[in-house]
Amino acid sequence: MTQPNVTIGDTDLVTTPLGLGTNAVGGNNLFPNLVDQTGIDIVKAGLNSGITLLDTAYAYGLGHSEELIGKAIKDYNRHSFAIATKGAQDFSSGQQVINNDPQFLVQQVDNSLRRLQTDYLDIFYIHFPDEQTPKAEAVGALQRLKEQGKIRAIGISNFSLSQIVEANADGYVDVVEDEYSLLHQQNAKEMMPYLAENMISFVPYFPLASGLLTGKYNSAVSFVDDDIRSQMDDFKGQRFSEALTAVSQVQPIAASHGATIAQVILAWYMQNPLVSVVIPGAKRPEQVESNAQSMSIELTPDEYQRIDQAFKYFK
Ligand code: NAP
Repeated sequence: MTQPNVTIGDTDLVTTPLGLGTNAVGGNNLFPNLVDQTGIDIVKAGLNSGITLLDTAYAYGLGHSEELIGKAIKDYNRHSFAIATKGAQDFSSGQQVINNDPQFLVQQVDNSLRRLQTDYLDIFYIHFPDEQTPKAEAVGALQRLKEQGKIRAIGISNFSLSQIVEANADGYVDVVEDEYSLLHQQNAKEMMPYLAENMISFVPYFPLASGLLTGKYNSAVSFVDDDIRSQMDDFKGQRFSEALTAVSQVQPIAASHGATIAQVILAWYMQNPLVSVVIPGAKRPEQVESNAQSMSIELTPDEYQRIDQAFKYFK
């Protein structure tokens, strides 16, 4: 592999710079027609391709993604890869409420451990902030789990900069996961100086803009209603046509590496100093195998800049 491994925050957790996003492994509430065995095969394809971080969440299939991962990893040495999961969704009232109450988070970690059939989590993220819990208290509960060895790194996801600062009042936050891609750059730019100063890693989600940055779409695409992409602004109007134009400019760079557009875009993230681990998702094992090859691509500084410039509309 050309791209070096990365350390998460100020911890001893080291992973490949490319992980596997698993919202389409068991995430039947997010995508139509998912097949369990394909999900298991996707996870195995990732581990067999040398990927060492799996990114899941309770929210993906309300535990089903974690259950399938628990099955997929049975034949692998648990210490040879890392699992990140997330929790905060509370259905005890009959509808979904975001809950960061310390006791609830502790319960969520135990539930995730059971579904994943493992005795530690490498990263546990608070998936979304709630409105009532003091953020440092929520993170404090995770710090105690870290001291007990149940989790190795503390993450927060979908927190604004001010919420991150509040959550990290005691310096316990190791990693932040938030949306960032060549099409969505603003969010991460705002929080990045604080993260860098505080040794907090950044894991961007939607790195391929749900497939749009792979170069496989043209203006004629449409999605069925229960596919989350049918509601995404990236696939509509001027944003969509600007994205298609930008992606077409990556094609010659990909061709010169004998690579796909997706592989070159993923290599761009791995060379981006803001990014710690890039976690593309996949619907098929072949996509994972192909994405894993991006760890062997090294862009020249000029190629890196050309890709950056191709997406200037989105800065
Ligand atoms: P993504 O990585 O931007 O796009 C993944 C999708 O692109 C795949 O499902 C697949 O969909 C397509 N694709 C992937 N590799 C491809 C290839 N080589 N060639 C062609 N198409 C390819 O989006 P995502 O999976 O939704 O997000 C990544 C991960 O971030 C998730 O899996 C999840 O773990 C995490 N996430 C976290 C949060 C959070 O709140 N923390 C939110 C969202 C996501 P098709 O085959 O259908 O095109």
